[in-house]
Amino acid sequence: MNDLKRIAIFGSTGSIGTQALEVIAANSNKFSVEILTAHTNDDLLIQQALAFNPNVVVIVDESKYTRVKDALQHTNVKVFAGEKALEETAAMDCYDLMLAGIVGYAGLKPTLCAIENGKPVALANKETLVVAGDIIMQRAIEMRVPIIPVDSEHSAIFQCLVGEGRNKIEQVILTASGGPFLGKKPNFLVNVKRDHALQHPNWSMGAKITVDSATLMNKGLEMIEAKWLFNLPAHKIKVVVHPQSIIHSMVQFEDGSIKAQMGLPDMKLPIQYALAFPQRIPSDFPRYDFKKPSTLTFEEPDLKTFRNLSLAIEALHKGGNMPCLLNASNEIAVYAFLRNRIGFLDISEMVERTMQKIKFIEKPTLQEYLDSDAEARNFAASLIEL
Ligand code: NAD
Ligand code: MG
Repeated sequence: MNDLKRIAIFGSTGSIGTQALEVIAANSNKFSVEILTAHTNDDLLIQQALAFNPNVVVIVDESKYTRVKDALQHTNVKVFAGEKALEETAAMDCYDLMLAGIVGYAGLKPTLCAIENGKPVALANKETLVVAGDIIMQRAIEMRVPIIPVDSEHSAIFQCLVGEGRNKIEQVILTASGGPFLGKKPNFLVNVKRDHALQHPNWSMGAKITVDSATLMNKGLEMIEAKWLFNLPAHKIKVVVHPQSIIHSMVQFEDGSIKAQMGLPDMKLPIQYALAFPQRIPSDFPRYDFKKPSTLTFEEPDLKTFRNLSLAIEALHKGGNMPCLLNASNEIAVYAFLRNRIGFLDISEMVERTMQKIKFIEKPTLQEYLDSDAEARNFAASLIEL
């Protein structure tokens, strides 16, 4: 039993976190759960802790500490609270692999702590690489820590690259479903409300990434994520809209050959792949059925309508702190949209204005990234008050 891989799930109450726990529950002979963390959802965290008996749980919202502590008083689970506790637990020795499943910038510091602590990371939290990809990847190389992508597109690219050694990549092609507003124009989007944007055709995900998928910002963040994960120049990273979400992404090599990874859209597949890597383990997930008539289609993204994607491409090419500014203002804008404070098209407006306003830094230090993030957030928030 002691060869179980010990998993720390940061963001265990989210879409990625809960699906990771399903994978682990189905493979309890291979994995154990050592750390679970949640932002505010104490009920679910308690339920998960009782079911998986981890070493440690963290509830970030300190007002919920006593409730969690009381509920777990008859167990051996240690309970910590507060933002700092995320970093302290990431620095612990009791686990073998961190699943970075926190959403947004909040995932950066704990993920960096895991790397500094020599722990491999299964990375769902793309914002970490968007904000400070050069620093994260540099530290991972120095610490010889593998970063295994969980994002389905990057898992696809990673899988396409297995066995390719030093073979040169001509381009990687990220597939995008196009989201719920594929084919729509600004005159439609101007009236779009929260509930409509939260209905993704193919994937069921957390609110922030679902809005990002509707604005195509998600694909822009993923282009930047790909740059860092696979050490690619910006011009080799392309996006194609593929509404069926069967091909999860592709790699084209120098000889023109294209490798693609396919499967039904189910995040449990890339999550399981990352947790079990380098092994593949059996699963009973539904299989793609070639007997059913189906067509796979591809089209160019509409960069004029989905301004967020063109802003992200601009940030990808510009580099420096620009992706960090893009991400920070987007987070503020998305949460404002989710609270019905701004319209759908205002999101890219806020991102663009922030990218123009905050000072560009070509080679930021970690502290400069953190400062850029804070400045961008403050500026973006000031636009809402207007
Ligand atoms: P979610 O909103 O469902 O869950 C987020 C998790 O992070 C929750 O456990 C929450 O408690 C925690 N969290 C939120 N804010 C926090 C904070 N300030 N401090 C600490 N913890 C906090 O999000 P999700 O859809 O699971 O996405 C998680 C990450 O994975 C995102 O970066 C997303 O882009 C990425 N991702 C998600 C999917 C998906 O299918 N959901 C697919 C690919 C990539
Ligand atoms: Mg993705």
